[in-house]
Amino acid sequence: MIPFVDLKAQYRSIEQEINAAISAVLNRGWFILGEEVKVFEEEFANYCGARFGVGVGSGTEALHLALLACGIKPGDEVITVPNTAMPTISAISFANAVPVFVDIDPDSYNMDVSKIEEKITSKTKVILPVHLFGQAADMDPILDIAERHDLKVVEDACQAHGAEYKGKRVGAIGDAGCLSFYPTKNLGAYGDGGMVVTNDEQIAERVQLFRNYGQKKRYYHSIKGFNSRLDEVQAAILRVKLKKLDAWNKARRERAELYGELLTGNDIITPAEMSYGKHVYQLYVIRSKHRDKLQEFLKSKEVNTLIHYPIPVHLQEAYRDLGVGGGSFPKAERYASEILSLPMYPELTDEQIGIICDLIKRFYKQKVDEARKI
Ligand SMILES: *Cc1c(COP(=O)(O)O)cnc(C)c1O
Repeated sequence: MIPFVDLKAQYRSIEQEINAAISAVLNRGWFILGEEVKVFEEEFANYCGARFGVGVGSGTEALHLALLACGIKPGDEVITVPNTAMPTISAISFANAVPVFVDIDPDSYNMDVSKIEEKITSKTKVILPVHLFGQAADMDPILDIAERHDLKVVEDACQAHGAEYKGKRVGAIGDAGCLSFYPTKNLGAYGDGGMVVTNDEQIAERVQLFRNYGQKKRYYHSIKGFNSRLDEVQAAILRVKLKKLDAWNKARRERAELYGELLTGNDIITPAEMSYGKHVYQLYVIRSKHRDKLQEFLKSKEVNTLIHYPIPVHLQEAYRDLGVGGGSFPKAERYASEILSLPMYPELTDEQIGIICDLIKRFYKQKVDEARKI
């Protein structure tokens, strides 16, 4: 069986360091907002090229708090994409704002920057690009539009730790960047976790207040906050893993390259790396006109694949109240029926990739043979 991800394989490769890091926290007996979180915030902000990092409970909460810190008010509009993980949109909803979608660029699968301006109204406050699958959105035009219309830019970099845009790591290109440390992400904890990175001191301070009951000094609450904190154990784990992130991202890129070589010539579309940046392949997503049959075939041969994401947000039951019907975003909608995420993780072997690609070739050969028979 070839799993979609293999977190145990990664743990085995760093077992001793991880166990020592966890044990150090347990022996210190300090679990919330201590030394590990503080140092990891500095280390990770530094990695992203940001001045500040604020550890929070998850990627979803990073987005939620970053939006609040940007001054989002009930009824404000946030421009984003419909082909994202639901949490991007949950965060907008829980900030009492309204998601406004634009369709996607056909090559990068990210926000089509030529469609942003027509969606701007007097209520628009934030543009929220998602660096989907590990590839940066085209940030320069987004920053330019934001500046002209006095909007903030919040990056959803939850799938893109270490991805680059014109030589800069994502996260601190806009006003704030939001990262998730969900276990399967390129930098994953052994539980939930997230961070807001920013160069804006005011945003950093506001997120710090929001995540900790609105207090800076204990028992003195300057704003209405709540509780969303990265914990010491996860921070200690993430500090160990951060040292490996570049090597792991490099391994992902090598695996993507091998997939690309082995899959060309079939009737599928492999991911394109945009010339402006560096893809870190959180997911390796191909497109096939026969997606469902291909997925079924691979499953029957014990290769696990997933679909990210089968239903665009505007077509989800939970968002029916937006009144945005089918046909509104033709590219995002069409791709939802064609995309397939193949196994992708640093420990995936060349041999496994060979097996997967041979199976895909076999599937297409059968298709051609079937077509000849008819
Ligand atoms: C994972 C993810 C999130 C949410 O992160 P959590 O840590 O699971 O809350 C948000 N946006 C995108 C694009 C993601 O992939």
